[in-house]
Amino acid sequence: MRHFDEGTLISVLTTQPLDRALDYKAPEGGCFEGAFVEVPLGPRKVLGVVWGQGEGGYALSKVRSVIRVLDAVPMRAKMHAFLERAAEYTLTPMPAMLRLATRSPGLGDPPSMRKVYRRGTTEAPDRWTEARRKVVAVLDEYGGLAFTLKEVSEQAGVSTSVVKGLVAQGVVSEEESPRDLPYPRLDPGQSAFDLTDEQTTAADALKTGVASRSYGTTLLKGVTGSGKTEVYLEAVAACLEAGRQALVLLPEIALTAEFLTRVEARFGARPVEWHSGVTMTERRRAWKMVGEGSAQLIVGARSALFLPFDDLGLIVVDEEHDTSYKQEDGVLYNARDMAVLRASLCKAQVVLASATPSLESWANAEAGKYNRVTLTSRFGDAVLPEMRAIDMRAEALPSNRWISDTLARAVRTRIEAGEQALLFLNRRGYAPVTICRACGHQIGCDHCDARMVEHRFQRRLMCHQCGETKPIPHACPSCEAEDRLAPVGPGIERMAEEVAALFPEAKVEVLSSDLFGSARALKARIEAIAAGEADIIIGTQIVAKGHNFPLLTLVGVIDADLGLQGSDLRAAERTFQLMRQVAGRAGRAEKPGTALMQTFQPEHPVIRAILSGDEEDFWRAEAEERRHAGVPPYGRMAGIVLSSPDVQAVFDVGKALAARSEPLRRIGAQVFGPAAAPIARVRGRHRVRLLIKADKTAPLQPAISAWIAQIRLPANLRLSVDIDPQSFL
Ligand code: ADP
Ligand code: ZN
Repeated sequence: MRHFDEGTLISVLTTQPLDRALDYKAPEGGCFEGAFVEVPLGPRKVLGVVWGQGEGGYALSKVRSVIRVLDAVPMRAKMHAFLERAAEYTLTPMPAMLRLATRSPGLGDPPSMRKVYRRGTTEAPDRWTEARRKVVAVLDEYGGLAFTLKEVSEQAGVSTSVVKGLVAQGVVSEEESPRDLPYPRLDPGQSAFDLTDEQTTAADALKTGVASRSYGTTLLKGVTGSGKTEVYLEAVAACLEAGRQALVLLPEIALTAEFLTRVEARFGARPVEWHSGVTMTERRRAWKMVGEGSAQLIVGARSALFLPFDDLGLIVVDEEHDTSYKQEDGVLYNARDMAVLRASLCKAQVVLASATPSLESWANAEAGKYNRVTLTSRFGDAVLPEMRAIDMRAEALPSNRWISDTLARAVRTRIEAGEQALLFLNRRGYAPVTICRACGHQIGCDHCDARMVEHRFQRRLMCHQCGETKPIPHACPSCEAEDRLAPVGPGIERMAEEVAALFPEAKVEVLSSDLFGSARALKARIEAIAAGEADIIIGTQIVAKGHNFPLLTLVGVIDADLGLQGSDLRAAERTFQLMRQVAGRAGRAEKPGTALMQTFQPEHPVIRAILSGDEEDFWRAEAEERRHAGVPPYGRMAGIVLSSPDVQAVFDVGKALAARSEPLRRIGAQVFGPAAAPIARVRGRHRVRLLIKADKTAPLQPAISAWIAQIRLPANLRLSVDIDPQSFL
């Protein structure tokens, strides 16, 4: 690592939204390239990283000095390279990338102190109790390791007063220690399970990759319950044994609980967590320990990709097809793609695990860019659910009812047998539309071009775009007629009413992201349900993601056609994935499962593909269509969104961009638009979209930069570029 002597001109990248790095003088004692520093900027002190040699060009006497070097491991060259490449790919300014890489408060603060507990010098207390024995057993088991009060009491399953009581007698010692304690070591040891032959072959393939200490990506495809997690944990074990760090990305915080328990069972200690639910203090500890190399396994959300790993050997992206890997605000990046980029820069392996891979990954495997490892059968006696369509044209349901007799009968049979049924509808709230029966007015959001959705449990109308809520009015805001507002269409809260009427005795549970105050609360409910605390579960897509409900044997999809409407290029792929994932919830234990899909178009090719279960056929047909249309993954796209409170300005800038598309045409790209976005106003800002299409090999990003650079943007106008957009709203 390069060292700069005191007074040398250095370039510092700050987290402030400036378009370039700034020159400073190295501080007293000098500094290393990559050092995290505090620098003066105007009247403020800001965080930055020593990016390289200074640009120069001004009188050295005018250049200010770095204030101090922070007590953190300097950014490594491979991280520096990763941020630059990620910025180039996503067309993100470097300061925003640096902000992603420093999302930990008080980076440079000296570590604060806290009390820690170890085995003390006194052998035994005056009197042994069961609780006291447990505490001593925990402390003895981990040798000299220090615990926080919370950790000991949790591990031992006793109250903190028991620990304090032992401290008073000297059986346990209490001392002050820096807050950032090292994490307990994970023991790669042996799996508690005997892997099946198929699993062994799969695990061996992944382990060979890890042992190569080189870059490679493997698509690990296997039906739900086939043991993908067990298999990739073997790769994690191999990585830890080789002394390198491993990262497992999960699409949803609520899934981490189950995963942490599994890791603890497999490795004897819990991994390090990194997601929005982690406290600030723990974030800081994690960030530092990851950088020092003492955090071995990190499990987290997509932002964990930007942690300062010392020696990253493996990244697992679980449920790799999940749309939540695409960050949709701020820096627009796809964690799956960034994982591949990061791994390629640090000689690490990537495992993309899914039962229903994205077409992108499937195509990369087909093209031989990714290795492919497949698990074909469910573990043990569990078999894949039988899937059938319910033809809604033949069911003649009265209006305002959504559960067909066929589905209702199936639910009844299951709950009478003491099993669980899941009714799936991907629509939060009570009803998607509230309409006035006197004048036909639909209640919309004041700030967005979107309808308000009734949330009856909370007694409010909510905008799903901006989150604004208001009470449900008595009178129509337009014609003032009283008590004429009526809900139209079903949401899951309305399903709950229908279910209660059909099955008055059943215990019903509604699962939807907005009904839980915290990820922890949701997690607790999911665990209770898994333990049998519900007969009928009504849920949105949060139930589709990897949760394990052993008693669940029936899945009823209320509206299988829902995702097929709309013009999204991935509509078919998404519906296929979601339906297969939801169906996969059924019959994961000994009892076989059934999935019933209510549809008005059972002959639709996507519905037929879902039912037939011939996935390869589906992917091939879908791939063929995309190739034909020249769209991802066989062509490239970028979405441009312009937004401003001034509707004229957004269209003017949109038209100006379209008129000066020369830099894009030069690489053979096409520009579509400007057009009002499908959601034309969000939070009071008018939105206009342009879409760019290019060949797979076209150098899209530099062309877009050159194109945008031609136009001066008005102050209030925001322009965002979304490379490989997933959402077209
Ligand atoms: P997936 O990740 O593909 O959904 P999991 O790894 O979660 O599958 O495995 C499904 C269930 O089967 C889990 O409870 C897991 O512990 C169990 N399981 C998988 N493989 C084995 C094995 N070889 N021996 C014992 N249990 C296994
Ligand atoms: Zn709104």
